Amino acid sequence: MTTPINPSYDCIVIGGGPAGSTAGALVAAAGHSVLVVERDAMPRQHVGESLMPETYWVFERLGVLDQLAQSRFSRKVGVQFVSNTGRESQPFFFRSHDPHPSSETWHVDRAEFDEILFRNAAQKGADCRDRVRAVDVTFDEARATGVHLDDGGNQQRVSTKVVIDASGQQTLLANRLGIRRVNPNLRKAAIWRHYRGAARDESGGGVKTIILHTSDKNAWFWYIPQADDLVSVGCVGDNDYLLKGRGSPEEVFAQELAKCDAVQSRVAGAEPLDDLRVAKEFSYSTDRAAGDGWLLVGDAWGFIDPVYSSGVYFALQSAALAADCVIEGLAKNDTSAEQLGKWGPDFQAATNSVRRLVHAFYSGEFRVGRFVNDHPEHRGNLTDLLIGRIFKPGVATMFDDLEPWLERQLAEAAKVDAV
Ligand SMILES: Cc1cc2nc3c(=O)[nH]c(=O)nc-3n(C[C@H](O)[C@H](O)[C@H](O)COP(=O)(O)OP(=O)(O)OC[C@H]3O[C@@H](n4cnc5c(N)ncnc54)[C@H](O)[C@@H]3O)c2cc1C
Repeated sequence: MTTPINPSYDCIVIGGGPAGSTAGALVAAAGHSVLVVERDAMPRQHVGESLMPETYWVFERLGVLDQLAQSRFSRKVGVQFVSNTGRESQPFFFRSHDPHPSSETWHVDRAEFDEILFRNAAQKGADCRDRVRAVDVTFDEARATGVHLDDGGNQQRVSTKVVIDASGQQTLLANRLGIRRVNPNLRKAAIWRHYRGAARDESGGGVKTIILHTSDKNAWFWYIPQADDLVSVGCVGDNDYLLKGRGSPEEVFAQELAKCDAVQSRVAGAEPLDDLRVAKEFSYSTDRAAGDGWLLVGDAWGFIDPVYSSGVYFALQSAALAADCVIEGLAKNDTSAEQLGKWGPDFQAATNSVRRLVHAFYSGEFRVGRFVNDHPEHRGNLTDLLIGRIFKPGVATMFDDLEPWLERQLAEAAKVDAV
């Protein structure tokens, strides 16, 4: 028999994904009572399998590096881009840029990975409950004071000093408060599935995440080799382009695959698994990271785009930064919006580098290989951003050259179109 949930905790975390488990582990390890509620049964599957190497430092803090190193997950050693004409960029190998263990990471099975972090939060002292849904956050005027839970049909209100919303794309609190903004320039959709026995290139000592454009550049594929001879293959394009009036997702996936020789040749002869999934309109931000007694982390705070695999890193990093503000706030009995949201502005500013890189990617003329040929001095900065080093001083100077370079590429392409 499971023990009943207590009537009150110092901190309640909504969601047992990477953000929620990280925040829960760190706040509990600091000696506070923490409840983490996850509505699904763990382990549960999730999209988002390619990590950024910069996750290393949060893993180290959580104490899970050894567990990850001993796991079955494939080692990710770099990123590669393939243009719409099939031209392959030189891989961006992280270790040759910076020979340190933090320059490598993994392609993970999210069910296994998220469970490792969830169990770790429990080991650090958090009361972790799966199959328990947060129905609503209760407020006393503007201050969050508790959470209504649904535990298999049993309703219960639990009070708390701090609510951390890590509910992912559900954005429970941001929806309730009306502070979620869909990004009008990134109304994308994705269709993905796994293949068994597809091509696997382990030159460089591990696998790479490959980003491949389709021939008409209306969509791109991710190619993420994983353990058990599986490869995750996903197609991303504008929501209306992919999902309106073109048949079933299965048919659209096949149509886009037919426009991408570089993926087709890699999956030729491989067995497609019966696990096709669709996601849409996943790019949004929130107006505020915190209020009195509450804060948002991970996807509940915002999500940009899957192209550079930044989502899990942002989830872990925002949760770790937010956890420090919660720990400090609980110690000095200050759980004001100002205290809980202290981490927000610097984090938001640092993530802008990835936002700018995403907009460059969707401009249609960002040929990565050509850019680093024209500007070899920025290969290092670009590799740093692919690693996730968004806080590194000077890393954003690359945009002083990238953005004018892109303008020129776009102008040249327009001239060719006009002829
Ligand atoms: C198409 C696509 C591809 C992606 N690819 C990548 C990639 O390759 N690499 C990468 O790093 N990122 C990727 N991402 C992003 C990544 O999936 C997310 O950024 C990451 O999972 C965020 O972690 P999180 O903990 O904030 O949220 P989640 O992992 O979504 O966890 C939130 C949890 O909260 C639970 N929950 C929700 N509501 C409630 C409730 N009311 N009560 C209790 N529990 C609740 C959910 O069940 C879920 O388990 C991708 C995203 C998309 C859309």
